[in-house]
Amino acid sequence: MHIKTWYLEALAKEIHNAKHRVESLAHQVYPSDTLSEFVRGELSKLIHELWLIVRDQLRESNARADAPLSPKCAEVISFWTSGYIQSVIASVSEADIHSHPLEMMLYIRELARQVVPGESIEVVTVPKETLNYSFRPIWQSRRPVLRIGSQAIAEQAVKYVELTYPKGEKDNILRSTVFAHELGHYVDHALGLTKRLLPRAYAAILPHIPQLRRADVVRAPGVSDIVVAQLIVSGILTSWLQEAVADTFAVRVLGPAFYFCYAELAGLIGGTQAGARIEILDVRAASHPRSSLRIQHLWHLLRELEDGLPVEVRQATDEILKMFETRVRVMHGATTIGNRSVALVLIPSVYEVLERVWQSLLPQVTEIVDAAIPEGNVFKSADYKLARLLVKERLEWLIPPNEHEGQPVKPSVIINAGWYARQFSLETIKNRMKSLPDGLEGNHNAVDMLNGLLKYALYATYVHERWLSA
Ligand SMILES: [Zn+2]
Repeated sequence: MHIKTWYLEALAKEIHNAKHRVESLAHQVYPSDTLSEFVRGELSKLIHELWLIVRDQLRESNARADAPLSPKCAEVISFWTSGYIQSVIASVSEADIHSHPLEMMLYIRELARQVVPGESIEVVTVPKETLNYSFRPIWQSRRPVLRIGSQAIAEQAVKYVELTYPKGEKDNILRSTVFAHELGHYVDHALGLTKRLLPRAYAAILPHIPQLRRADVVRAPGVSDIVVAQLIVSGILTSWLQEAVADTFAVRVLGPAFYFCYAELAGLIGGTQAGARIEILDVRAASHPRSSLRIQHLWHLLRELEDGLPVEVRQATDEILKMFETRVRVMHGATTIGNRSVALVLIPSVYEVLERVWQSLLPQVTEIVDAAIPEGNVFKSADYKLARLLVKERLEWLIPPNEHEGQPVKPSVIINAGWYARQFSLETIKNRMKSLPDGLEGNHNAVDMLNGLLKYALYATYVHERWLSA
């Protein structure tokens, strides 16, 4: 048996199986027509084209054992073994109508279209078992598609973005506030915001390299400082800046709601160290700056809301900041990033340098993000005043906050009304609900009721808005 034909035959079968899988997925009911067209059209067409290339190569190899591997087939092999197509199939297979957080997505998709006009974005929502939200552009990397597939596929204009969320939280509007951060990653990607910050990141880290070398944390004999700086920027600072961009975007469009949501999630995801004291675990990692530094940045941005926030909200934001400043346990695993010629050992003193550099870049992050958000999408203190009013006039009376003086209310206002009510009006809501269990269980039920009202309001305001603009 010839190794080449043996391998190609197995690969062809593998691709063929994937095609069958996609064909069966085509019968699923998707939350949007675009997504179902993608599955029925592009995705299965591309897989079929890959299969044809392997088939042709196999024919040649069968005819002539020493037939060379065509560059196209070599591309197919590397593209297929990258697992990219398989992961797209996995995402799409979970993205049916039943697992789509519809109400929050109406808002997120609309916001994406306003901030990045001219791009056609489709959000593929994928439920996961873990408490984690993530963003991934799944169909932007057209380069391999261009090289391998047909022109028709390469020219498709829709950007597919995958958002994952915890399975049990599909209808949790309060928690879904964090989608604004994930959307921030999309905006960053689409407008190239972090890319513009990288020259400054190099300039900021370069002066620290000699000091890092002296401390013997840089293992790079004979390698220039520039190369070490490149490693730090590509291995750490780029990710950290991406997080700063996404955080800044989220707090600019959702104000205090994002701050409260982020703090709660950071506490839960980081986990707390139970024992005599409960502390927030503040994990240092190459992928994210630690939570307490992110909270500090968000807090500063909130301060900029002109003519301020209501005193009770200011107090609540201060208390959270204080908690993240005083009740955290900073953690890190000693790891090394790099390659054979240059490596950096990530010990606490190195993180301290990187954190200072990251913080020094935050004003530029803010400037670039601010310039990217259309004025109408920026959350203002007037929006917060309306949110608070809607709590008093509607949510506390168990009425959805979707309308004010006959006008549809902006989703960002609805979401902030939700967080405000959750923090300051839960007792009133409990009292207005009938036959509620006492204590903590009653609180849980009231939060669930609140979520239901928010969900309804987001949908109703969307329909109202559509109706007005029709
Ligand atoms: Zn992120």
